[in-house]
Amino acid sequence: MTPAATPMPRCWAEIDLDALRHNLASIRQKIGPNVRILTVVKADAYGHGLKAIAGHLMRCGTDVFGVANLAEAQTIRSVGRGWPTLLLGACLPDEVHLAVRDGIMLTVSNREELQWISEQASKLKTTAQIHLKVDTGMGRLGAPPDELPDLVHTLHQLPHLNWAGIFTHFSSAEDDATFTRTQLQSFEKVIQKLSSSGLQLPAVHACNSAALLHESSAWFNLVRPGLLVYGITPQGKRPNPPALAHQLQPVLSLKTRVTRVRLVPKDTPVSYGQQFITTRPTRLATLAIGYADGYPRSASPKAQILIHGKRCPILGRITMDQTVVDVTSLPQTQPGDTAVVIGSQETESISASTLADWCGTIPWETLTNISYRVPRIYRGARAS
Ligand SMILES: *Cc1c(COP(=O)(O)O)cnc(C)c1O
Repeated sequence: MTPAATPMPRCWAEIDLDALRHNLASIRQKIGPNVRILTVVKADAYGHGLKAIAGHLMRCGTDVFGVANLAEAQTIRSVGRGWPTLLLGACLPDEVHLAVRDGIMLTVSNREELQWISEQASKLKTTAQIHLKVDTGMGRLGAPPDELPDLVHTLHQLPHLNWAGIFTHFSSAEDDATFTRTQLQSFEKVIQKLSSSGLQLPAVHACNSAALLHESSAWFNLVRPGLLVYGITPQGKRPNPPALAHQLQPVLSLKTRVTRVRLVPKDTPVSYGQQFITTRPTRLATLAIGYADGYPRSASPKAQILIHGKRCPILGRITMDQTVVDVTSLPQTQPGDTAVVIGSQETESISASTLADWCGTIPWETLTNISYRVPRIYRGARAS
């Protein structure tokens, strides 16, 4: 083998920007021209790399961004100015000055927050953009529904505030139709009350990915998909409406390489704690991925990895940097071969949701756990 000038990574995530474009277009097609899209890019764009994803979503015509903190909002600003960005969580008192200065839209749950933001905006001689949050059953942020008329009134009384939105968040949209509809009704009541008092309504939004799929009557004039944008369908107890769910393409693949292959006899212990002992002569492949890359140790007993298009079971515990798989049926396996942890190879594929199931968790966590050590490699339109 010739030595590579720049070595290929041992473990990397491939991000398909064409799939991202396709997913945004599919969502847009489903919701129609009168509903805008707030793409949620918190947590480094669900592990896909915020800068590249935000830049590409700008080129694909997203309307608004949703983030979890000011650093994420600033990263978006460094990619392109002028994109409305909503801080989905509460803004801490000491963050308000910076957030208002940078024009980040703020989520507000009570009168005290409004007063403080108004003061800071006055000092800056600017107008703060406010999205009021209604707690309809999530129990995390937001005002009780019956406090909304007062909050809106306060917002209009205080100087330097602009009412940019009102929203709620569903707790169980993928699982529980009854509870979701109860939340929706309570939000609709608030909206009706406000509009019947003659107010001009701003952006009204409620849908995360699951609600976007299941509750078309909850789209209002803006939706907030995260997971769907990255091509993953939230799976819960409610059966998914097939059309959009089947159209989406996973954006991220997680890959690694075989570093060693050896044939061992029966009764050979594999990895820490001798949790696995071979029951027959076995060909073992050692791979350059471990829990420090975000391949969860809890995947150990169940997970499989694709090599030469075949599913290979993991043997023994996943360690910090390395994982051992059974390649007895693949004698062609050699050091340097590519192994697919999330993604497709030939006719087989392993989704982020499947890996999450093996670990007893959810795809949101699986994607956002892919660590700093894993380079993100962009493919597709304008990936350079
Ligand atoms: C994270 C988040 C979303 C996106 O959720 P998905 O299930 O990934 O679509 C939407 N709204 C709020 C308030 C969020 O915090």
